[in-house]
Amino acid sequence: MTKQLRVELGDGHAIPQVGLGVWQTPDDVAVTAVQAALDAGYRHVDTAAAYQNEKGVGAGLRASGVARDEVFITTKVWNENQGYDNALKAIEGSLKRLQLDQLDLCLIHWPAPHRGLYLDTWRALIKAQEAGQVRSIGVSNFEVEHLDRVIGETGVTPVLNQIELHPRFQQTALRAAHAERGIKTESWSPLGQGQLLTDPIITGIAAKHGRTTAQVIIRWHLDSGLIVIPKSVTPSRIVENFDVFGFALDAEDMAAIAGLDQTDGRIGPNPMTATF
Ligand code: NAD
Repeated sequence: MTKQLRVELGDGHAIPQVGLGVWQTPDDVAVTAVQAALDAGYRHVDTAAAYQNEKGVGAGLRASGVARDEVFITTKVWNENQGYDNALKAIEGSLKRLQLDQLDLCLIHWPAPHRGLYLDTWRALIKAQEAGQVRSIGVSNFEVEHLDRVIGETGVTPVLNQIELHPRFQQTALRAAHAERGIKTESWSPLGQGQLLTDPIITGIAAKHGRTTAQVIIRWHLDSGLIVIPKSVTPSRIVENFDVFGFALDAEDMAAIAGLDQTDGRIGPNPMTATF
C-alpha cells in the first residue's frame, strides 16, 4: 500500500483513512473518477450496490494499472437484498459487477429495522467472510441497539460503522459507543454534501492555514480519528481532497469546529425511522 494514514480494524486488517466516495456517480463517470483518485494516491473507494456503479468502479480500478492488492474496495448490501439468502446472492452480484474475487469490506447499508432482517443479513456477511468472499465485515447507519443486537447474537463485532458525520452533525454519543465496543467510525457526507464549504468558521480557519475549506473539513475528520470518504468527480477536487497530509489543525481550530455541532444537523435520513 502507498504511504498514507491507515486505521487498524478490530479483525487485524487496516483501511486507508481517506477514500473516494462515489454516490450519485454513473458508471462511466465512476471509471474516470476512480482512475483520477488512484492517480492522486488514494487507495480506497467506497461504493454500494445501490449506487449502481460497481461496474464502473471495477473498470476504473483495472484501467488505473494499480495492483488489486494495493486498493481497498468497500461495497454495501442494499435494503431490498436483506435476509440471509438474499444477502449472499447480493454479495455474489457485487463481486461479479466489480470483477473481483474478494471485497475488502462489505457493509449492511442500513439497519432498516422495519424489515426485521438485519440480524439474518449480518449472519450472511459472517458466512461470506468464512467463505473468503469478503475480508472484513461492517455496518452502516446502525444505532447502538442494532450494534448490540448483532454483537450479542453472533459474537462477531462489525469492524466499523459508516454513519452521517460532519462538523454540523458530530455524532459524539455514537462515536463513544463505538470506541467502547472496538468499532471504528467512518464518516459519510463528510463535507455535509458540500453545504459546509461556505461556513464562515471553516472559511476563517482555511484562510488562516492557506488551505481550502474542503481540506480543513477533511483534516478535521482525520484529526478526530475518523475514516473519511469525500466525494468528487472533478479531478482537481479529487486531488485537493487528498492533499491533506501536510498541515494540522490547532486546539483553537478544533474547539471552533466543535462549536458547529447541532442536535438537528442531520442532512440524510434517520436510521430509526427511515422506511426504505
Ligand atoms: P460529501 O459530503 O462528500 O460532499 C460531496 C460534494 O461536495 C460533491 O458532490 C461536491 O459538490 C462537493 N465537493 C467535494 N469536494 C469539493 C471540493 N474540493 N471543493 C468544492 N466542492 C467539493 O457528500 P456525499 O457524496 O454525500 O458523501 C460522501 C460519500 O459517502 C458518498 O459518495 C458515499 O460513498 C458515502 N455515503 C454513504 C451513505 C450511507 O448511507 N452509507 C450515505 C451517503 C453517502
